[in-house]
Amino acid sequence: MIHDVVIIGGGPAGLAAAIYAGRAKLKGFVLEKMSPGGQVLVTDMVENYPGFMEPISGFELVEKFTAHAKRFGMPIETGEVERIEPVGDQFSLILTDERTITARSVIVATGATHRKLGVKGEQELTGRGVSYCATCDGPFFRDQVVAVVGGGDSAVQEAIFLTKFAKKVYVIHRRDELRAIKILQERAFANDKIDFVWDSIVEEIEGKDQVQAVKILNKKSGKQSRLEVDGVFIFIGIQPITDFVKGLVDTDERGFIKTDQWMRTSFKGIYAAGDCRQKPLLQIVTAVAEGATAAYAVEHDLA
Ligand code: NAP
Repeated sequence: MIHDVVIIGGGPAGLAAAIYAGRAKLKGFVLEKMSPGGQVLVTDMVENYPGFMEPISGFELVEKFTAHAKRFGMPIETGEVERIEPVGDQFSLILTDERTITARSVIVATGATHRKLGVKGEQELTGRGVSYCATCDGPFFRDQVVAVVGGGDSAVQEAIFLTKFAKKVYVIHRRDELRAIKILQERAFANDKIDFVWDSIVEEIEGKDQVQAVKILNKKSGKQSRLEVDGVFIFIGIQPITDFVKGLVDTDERGFIKTDQWMRTSFKGIYAAGDCRQKPLLQIVTAVAEGATAAYAVEHDLA
């Protein structure tokens, strides 16, 4: 069977593409490797999505997106694409379980994943105090002391979230100024449980079976110190999940896919939307808009 469109990734971009593709009566489906939702699924509260003045949990928002996509007839299937092979004016999507799917168009909406620090102890202690998801692991640190690494929106938002559980949250940032938006900065500065460790990088995460401490280097003074913590949450940015289209479509040096304003990539018939795409603003609202645009472009181009 040849599908009009296969949407790879079931985050906000993919689900919005599904709503628009479904309404346009395109035949196809969303292919998601885990549960639909992407990074939003593990976001505690969303307070900047239009129409939801009261913060809504990421989980609940994703449930609404998923139900909405299904309502317009777009199924959500489970599977992970290993590679895409162009065959004439169609595409063969080869899945990791060796299934092959044939489609006339592909929307890549695979999003992004967290970056790693790359220091000693990080890998060994992941799941034993080192985490990349405060919503998933925060409750394990009730009345304990945790460190958050990073200074962007994710680090600051999640540090605030972690104060619901932890008795102390240290935010370790490599500069003396946060990258996060002002509203999050103000909330973090006003929170008694949060202390900032400025101009500092984590050199090592220590612990035998569980995290016990982080070794810190102050870049300005050159002084090394050791901070005893029970957990380390790392939020130092994201990297796009685009390895499977490497060499097929143009990306920037970090792997984000380049598109035109119709979300068309450099390869005819392949579109990209959401956090895997090169763009200035990574938000649910932009992901959704790009998913809609990509589906519209597919409809237009197929016609
Ligand atoms: P980000 O904005 O890229 O920030 C990454 C932070 O980690 C920066 O403060 C950076 O320091 C620091 N960092 C990077 N590499 C590091 C390293 N090797 N060692 C130590 N620190 C390092 O990433 P993000 O916070 O994950 O956010 C990703 C995107 O999602 C952004 O566009 C953000 O706006 C968006 N987002 C939005 C919300 C929201 O709207 N509420 C929530 C979460 C995320 P420097 O500042 O020195 O570069």
